[in-house]
Amino acid sequence: MNQTAILESISATEPMLPHPAIVSAVRPEAYGISTFSLEYADPTLATGFSPGQFNMIHLPGFGEVAISICSDPRTPAVMEHTVRYAGSVTRAIGRLKPGDTVGLRGPYGNPWPMDLVEGRDLMIASGGIGLAPLRPVILEALHRRNSFGRILLLYGGRTPQDLLYTDEYERWLNGGIEMYVSVDRADETWKGQVGVIPMAFYRTRLDHRRTLVFTCGPEIMMRFVIYEAMARRIPKEAIYVSMERNMKCAIGFCGHCQLGPVFICKQGPVFRFSAIEPFFGREEF
Ligand SMILES: Cc1cc2nc3c(=O)[nH]c(=O)nc-3n(C[C@H](O)[C@H](O)[C@H](O)COP(=O)(O)OP(=O)(O)OC[C@H]3O[C@@H](n4cnc5c(N)ncnc54)[C@H](O)[C@@H]3O)c2cc1C
Repeated sequence: MNQTAILESISATEPMLPHPAIVSAVRPEAYGISTFSLEYADPTLATGFSPGQFNMIHLPGFGEVAISICSDPRTPAVMEHTVRYAGSVTRAIGRLKPGDTVGLRGPYGNPWPMDLVEGRDLMIASGGIGLAPLRPVILEALHRRNSFGRILLLYGGRTPQDLLYTDEYERWLNGGIEMYVSVDRADETWKGQVGVIPMAFYRTRLDHRRTLVFTCGPEIMMRFVIYEAMARRIPKEAIYVSMERNMKCAIGFCGHCQLGPVFICKQGPVFRFSAIEPFFGREEF
């Protein structure tokens, strides 16, 4: 390979180069789930992100994973990532402590369409760790609450101990977010609702002419939410989903995250439901 070809291949791979970032805080959320605050060592790299976008977190010797940015878009210098310890990379992230360094690149992906929500109602339906990519939507909505109509949050976890961001719920409620939090299995500490998210949805009144739906969570939950929304005459074009698939490059090179004709990393992870309906629910292989 001549010098030019080598330089070309370096510049072609540069978009995938992770940059050092410092772990500035670690906050346990639930069993096997913590939130990691990351700050670029070179602060000029923190150029901002939009709700729903994700970063690639790289740990030398383990690999790289896609993780949603779950913090306030108005403080881009400190980006929070809630990580569930699922496999080798996320378990290694789980061992990080404040002061440790990781590789970081991003932000990537198509965000939630916040501009479309202005002046309309929004129903957020999420389950488990699916609340992570929707938390920036809530935080942004709190900043300019008067720009939006009703904001409803339906959120479900398996048990009370599995719920994320519980210490923020009071602030969200006081900021004008209507919240319906439920668990599949209650214990003696739980004073809230018991049941899956679709049950909470059945009890919710919505104006189909002005409501947008944002949903993220287990695909079975999203399927119920989408079909119940459509049964309420909310158009497919007003329903947005965030999809997760096994992801490698995050920039549309490798095809690992392909869903039918679309790449989740480039055209997603947030999609208008009508754009992916034929492929929704299709198994990864
Ligand atoms: C756009 C996007 C945003 C994401 N945001 C978050 C986030 O905020 N927090 C978080 O904890 N995770 C998130 N993930 C998922 C995370 O990237 C994967 O769980 C990651 O592969 C775990 O890597 P690992 O090496 O630890 O486990 P692996 O060894 O890769 O996987 C462990 C197990 O999880 C399964 N798995 C891997 N990836 C997925 C997936 N995407 N969906 C379902 N099952 C999977 C594998 O098949 C395997 O059974 C996101 C993924 C995408 C694509």
